[in-house]
Amino acid sequence: MTDHRSIFVWIECKGNRIKAVSLEALNCGLQLSKTNGLQVCAVLFCGEQKPDLTPLSDFPPHSIKIFSGPQWENYNSEAVSNAFFHWMQEASPRLVLLPASNHGKELGAILSGLTHAPLASDCVEVECLNAIDFEVKRPIYSGKAFVSLALEGKGLHIITLRANVFRGKRSSKGTLPDAELVVSNPDAKALSLIVREVVKGTGKLDVTEARVVVSGGMGMQGPENFPLLEELAEVLGGTVGASRPVVDNGWRDYSNQVGQTGRTVSPDLYIACGISGAVQHIAGMSGSKCIVAINKDPHAPIFSIAQYGIVGDVLEIIPLLTTEFKKILHG
Ligand SMILES: Cc1cc2nc3c(=O)[nH]c(=O)nc-3n(C[C@H](O)[C@H](O)[C@H](O)COP(=O)(O)OP(=O)(O)OC[C@H]3O[C@@H](n4cnc5c(N)ncnc54)[C@H](O)[C@@H]3O)c2cc1C
Repeated sequence: MTDHRSIFVWIECKGNRIKAVSLEALNCGLQLSKTNGLQVCAVLFCGEQKPDLTPLSDFPPHSIKIFSGPQWENYNSEAVSNAFFHWMQEASPRLVLLPASNHGKELGAILSGLTHAPLASDCVEVECLNAIDFEVKRPIYSGKAFVSLALEGKGLHIITLRANVFRGKRSSKGTLPDAELVVSNPDAKALSLIVREVVKGTGKLDVTEARVVVSGGMGMQGPENFPLLEELAEVLGGTVGASRPVVDNGWRDYSNQVGQTGRTVSPDLYIACGISGAVQHIAGMSGSKCIVAINKDPHAPIFSIAQYGIVGDVLEIIPLLTTEFKKILHG
């Protein structure tokens, strides 16, 4: 696949597991290929143990390329971008799609720097204008507005995609093409090598991957009240998020923080509990499909973006919601 006839989709892996956000990028690539005829190639970097490729059969790509070696066991931006860049020079893709995860955004920016290709990040829409040009839509001003950008010309374009926007309908499982495997030893000139990854936090679902996020703000009044949110999140099959002052106060870990300087989430359901709705918080969650706000102040700005609002004390309302959801969902 050469001469700008392909779309490369970076498939992000965590250990032996393919991350769900990568399937969205694959879905987006396949939708584009229906219009412009480009071939979609799924690109994976992994350690010596190959990841389970079954999830890819929800959106089967035209080809699969796996780079395998100890240097890719844990994500290392230097090792991944070096190999990706060298292969891109050989294969000349038309488009590179990556999930707008922390690693995807970092990798997209490095590849853009190395190739001098334009980068459109955190896109919520991608369309083909014709055989070679694309139009993307992305949020600006902390999510207060959207901008449409035309990516024109025959060169390479790099796009990162906001999570939970390109899920698409999974049809019956398709057949996967045989994967092309490239086994490689670590680059002797590499400046960094990840020796070990230490996972911080509770081991619960990551806020960026959860379909339900129950977030707590300063209205929760103290860390001792967060178990109320844990319980509601568990009943709904979700996870707990937090506003920045909650994290700054040490009530929750930074990995929970939602907002401009935290994580961007776009779950099916976001329940904001005792969160005022400052622009920096909204920047990280306005893409949620359904927003429910609980706040004792009826004029709190969060209500202006919520589909459902409950005016009242979070400490009274959350246990009531938990009890009702338990009855409905778990009998
Ligand atoms: C550069 C920069 C980056 C930032 N990045 C982020 C970010 O990534 N994420 C983020 O969240 N913030 C961020 N902030 C901070 C942001 O501006 C707000 O200060 C923050 O979001 C407010 O958090 P909060 O809503 O929890 O607290 P508050 O603004 O203190 O709001 C608490 C809310 O709880 C309600 N409340 C109080 N008691 C109860 C109760 N018993 N029951 C129900 N409701 C109650 C109040 O009415 C109020 O609306 C950033 C700020 C700056 C300057």
